[in-house]
Amino acid sequence: MILDTVFGWFSVDMGIDLGTCNTLVCVRNEGIVLNEPSVVAVRKGTNIVLNDGEAVGLVAREMLGKTPGSITAIRPLKDGVISDFEITEKMLGYFIRKVHGRGLVRPRVVIAVPSGITAVERRAVIDSAERAGARRVFLVDEPMAAGIGAGLPITEPTASMIVDIGGGTSEVAIMSLADISTCESIRIGGDDFDEALISHLKRTYNLLIGEPRAEQVKIQIGSAAPLEQELTMEIAGRDTISGLPRKIVITSEEIREALREPIAAIIETVMQTLEKAEPELAADLIENGMHLCGGGSLLRGMETILSNATGLKVVHVEDPLSCVARGTSVYLENLELWKDTLDQTGYSWE
Ligand code: ADP
Ligand code: MG
Repeated sequence: MILDTVFGWFSVDMGIDLGTCNTLVCVRNEGIVLNEPSVVAVRKGTNIVLNDGEAVGLVAREMLGKTPGSITAIRPLKDGVISDFEITEKMLGYFIRKVHGRGLVRPRVVIAVPSGITAVERRAVIDSAERAGARRVFLVDEPMAAGIGAGLPITEPTASMIVDIGGGTSEVAIMSLADISTCESIRIGGDDFDEALISHLKRTYNLLIGEPRAEQVKIQIGSAAPLEQELTMEIAGRDTISGLPRKIVITSEEIREALREPIAAIIETVMQTLEKAEPELAADLIENGMHLCGGGSLLRGMETILSNATGLKVVHVEDPLSCVARGTSVYLENLELWKDTLDQTGYSWE
C-alpha cells in the first residue's frame, strides 16, 4: 500500500469507462481527459490497425468517411460483449498510452464494465489492460460506478437505483451498502433505436439510410413518450427499388412507433429488476426514485415512460454521459473503502 502511494506520485492513475459507443478516461484532479468513440480502423479483412496502431477513437472515425473502400471500422464492444479481444486490447492500449504519456511509473487502472459480462470477458479486459501497460487493474460494475459518479448514497443502508442506457447495452441495478443487490442487463441500447428506425424506413418506404443518419434523426425528433408539440423532419436516403436518392418527411409519432420494441425491452428489464428487489429496498425506492444515465436515456420522454410504468420518481443524474467515468476515478481514490466488494468479486486485493 505504501509502495502504491509512492508510485501514485509518479504515475497517472486512471478510471476508464469502456463503453460500447464511447470510451472516457478520468484522472484525479483533472477530470475527464479523454472522450472518444470506441472505434478502431483496420485494414479490411485484417486485424492490422491503420496508422501504425494509431487509428483509434476520433482519428478512426474521421478516417472512415474518407477512404471507405479499404478500411473497416470495428466497434469491438458493439453489443456489450467483447466481440473481438485483439482489437479491444489494441484500443484500450492506445487510450491508456495516450493518457499516461508523461507518467514515469505504470498506472493503476479502474475499468467500468457491464455487470452482465462473463468471467472470461472480465479476465480478457484485465489482461488487455495489463498488456496495455497498467500496473494494477481493478474492475468495477458499471452501475456501481454510475452511482458513485452521480453522488448517490450507495454506501448507505438505503436503496439507490440506476438505469444506464448505453449504445449496445442497458444496465439496471439496485444498490445498497456499497454493493449491488439486484441487477439486470440486456444487450439492447440506443444503437438498437437507430437500427429499429432503419428497418422501419426500409420496410415502409423502401428507403435505405445509414447508421449516422438514423442516429441524427433519433436525436433530433426521436421520443419515447408523446411530445407536447410533435415534430417532423425530412430524411434523405436511397430508394431500394430504383437505387436513386429520395427524400421523405417523417413525424415524431411515426418514429416513436418504430422505436416501440427496443424501448419496451428496456422497460421490461426495469420492471424485472424491481420485481426481484428485496422488499425493504423496494420500499426505499418510493422515496429515492430511480436515476437515469447513459446516452440512450437522453431520448425525449424516457423519464416519463419509465415513471408511468413503475410509478416511481425518475430523474437524470447530472451529466449522464460522464458519470460512469467520474465514478471510476472516485473509486480509484477510495480503493480501501471497496475492499470487501473487490474480495467478493474474486479479485485479489494484493
Ligand atoms: P456506451 O456507454 O455504451 O458507450 P453512451 O452512454 O455513450 O454508450 O451512449 C451512446 C448512445 O446514446 C448512442 O446510441 C447514441 O446514439 C445515444 N445518444 C447520445 N445522445 C443522445 C440524445 N441526445 N438523444 C438520444 N440518444 C442519444
Ligand atoms: Mg456506458
